[in-house]
Parts: sequence; structure tokens; C-alpha cells
Amino acid sequence: TAKPGKRPAPEKPPKRTVRLTHPDRIYWPDAGVTKEGLADYYADIWRSIAPFIVGRPLALLRCPTGIEGQQFFQKHAWKGLNPKSVQVRDPQDKQGEPLIAIEDLDGLMGLVQSAALEIHPWGSTVANWERPDMITLDLDPGPGVGWETVIAAAGEVRARLEDAGLAAFVKTSGGKGLHVVAPLTPKADWPAAKAFTKALADAMAADSPALYVSTIAKAKRKGKILIDYLRNQRGMTAVAAYSTRARPGAPVSMPLAWDELGPEIGPAHFTVANTPARLAALKADPWGDFHNSAAPLPTARKKR
Ligand code: ATP
Ligand code: MN
Ligand code: MN
Repeated sequence: TAKPGKRPAPEKPPKRTVRLTHPDRIYWPDAGVTKEGLADYYADIWRSIAPFIVGRPLALLRCPTGIEGQQFFQKHAWKGLNPKSVQVRDPQDKQGEPLIAIEDLDGLMGLVQSAALEIHPWGSTVANWERPDMITLDLDPGPGVGWETVIAAAGEVRARLEDAGLAAFVKTSGGKGLHVVAPLTPKADWPAAKAFTKALADAMAADSPALYVSTIAKAKRKGKILIDYLRNQRGMTAVAAYSTRARPGAPVSMPLAWDELGPEIGPAHFTVANTPARLAALKADPWGDFHNSAAPLPTARKKR
């Protein structure tokens, strides 16, 4: 199976066999992206996205009539789910409804067929539900925060992660902010992941109270960046690298090299339209070392 950081092979993407109904349905009117256009995008970039969405519980933002219509965040499998997508049982919720996972491109096409315009994986896999293999610090700028301040915040998160012995990777959210992601050796459990990321966010807010907050209260966020660590809890998600967003322009969450961060690349710079060309032109995958850089959370290391 695919592992994060494995370089995409230069071969053609695998063929899809899931039949799309209403392929011409327009999902992003302003960008002119149809259901078939979305399927083509994912087939094109499959080798890049696979390591981040295969074999994980997935929540989906479904938008049956496109980004301007009704949207719902779906965490459980449903009756009409394409059989190419798989249903998985949460070991801590055996009585509950199954969750959604995929194993291959057809599984992803099943999700496209069901109007999944955003894909939000857990930070752990169905092979190891209780031990996350990545943590995400989600930087949410409040009103009035400049982009250079968001970039500086990401650099500070990076420095703190590296001080803790972890590798740090950055991606645009495709929305307003940046996500800093650290690959983990899956040893520590979810409460440890939450405690670690909460401590990091709290320390940043304590050291620079004029710049950062670590609590969700909206009123406190004007002019500041929320260091949102709450993605790092069991059952919570963050949007996948390379996932599309149900927002104007058909943006995608794009992995970047640290030295690419700057004024030219805003949080929604990369889209369904320009991503395939970016990936084809890249000399090296900026997240190419993601999997190989995995390290244990410092708490887990201390215990040994
Ligand atoms: P932005 O840069 O605009 O903040 P984002 O993807 O980081 O984009 P957030 O609002 O910060 O958006 O949300 C962070 C994550 O929380 C999302 O990526 C998603 O995985 C999860 N999330 C979003 N909406 C919901 C929801 N309705 N229910 C549960 N989780 C959600
Ligand atoms: Mn965010
Ligand atoms: Mn957030």
C-alpha cells in the first residue's frame, strides 16, 4: 500500500471503472469544474494524494449540487455509498454506523460520484486507530491578519516541532490559512497527541499574546492567529493534502516546500486547474521525505 512520502511513479495513473452519473454537473460554477473534471483531477494526481487518504477513516464534505448548494459534513457510510469505497468499523464504536475508507482510485471515484468535494482524513490509519501517524497544527488567521504573519507563525510552529525532535511540513489549506503537519511514528496515543499540540499552541500564545491565541473563542481572535490544535483528537480530521475545497475557484490544499512560502502563494493559490501542471513541473516532491521523517512524540520517547 502507498506510504506518505513515496515518490509518485512516473507511470500513467490507474484507470477508473466507477461510472459517473451526471458527469457534466457543475460543481464549481466560477471555475467551470464539473463532476467529470473533479474525477479527472483525482485520477491525474492519484499517486500524490493516495498516501494521505488510503486506509484512513475519512469524513467528507458532500455538496450534491455543487459549492453553491447544500453542503453536509459526513462522517459515516450511507446506503448509496459506492461499493468501491469501503466501510470500516471503529473498534471503539462497534455498535455504531460504519465509517468511510478507501483502498484505491476506484474508492476515491466512488466518493466523487457521491459529490464529496472535500476529503478529511483522520490522523491515524485503520491499521492502527489509536496511534496517530501525523499531527496537524491548523493556523487560522482572524480578521485583519496579514499573510506574512501567518507565514511567520508557521515558521514558529516548525521551529517548536523541530525542537521536539519532529519534522515539520507545510501546506496551504485551500481556504484562509496554513497547516503545519508532523509525521509520527505511531507510538503515542490520541490523548498524548492532543496534550502535545495543546502545549505547543498554549506556549506560542503565552510567548506572543499579541499575535496568537490557542482558545477557540471567536471574540478573542480579531487581529490574531488561532493555533488550532483541536484537529489532534480521536475522530477529528483535517483536510487532506491535495484535496479540493468546496470554495470559489476550486482551490486545493497544497503541500509546499518551506522556501516556497511568500507573498506570491496565497492560501488558495493552487486549484484544480493549476495543480496538475505544478506537480508535473516539480523537480522534487516537497513532501517527499514525509513518511521517512516520522519520529515518535517526545512523551512517548521519554517513557522508553
Ligand atoms: P481554513 O484555512 O479556511 O481555516 P481549514 O480547512 O483549516 O481551512 P477550519 O475551519 O480551520 O478549515 O477547519 C479545520 C478542519 O476541521 C477542517 O479541515 C475539517 O477537517 C474539520 N472540519 C471542518 N468543518 C467541520 C465540521 N462541520 N464538522 C467537523 N469537522 C469539521
Ligand atoms: Mn484552518
Ligand atoms: Mn481551524
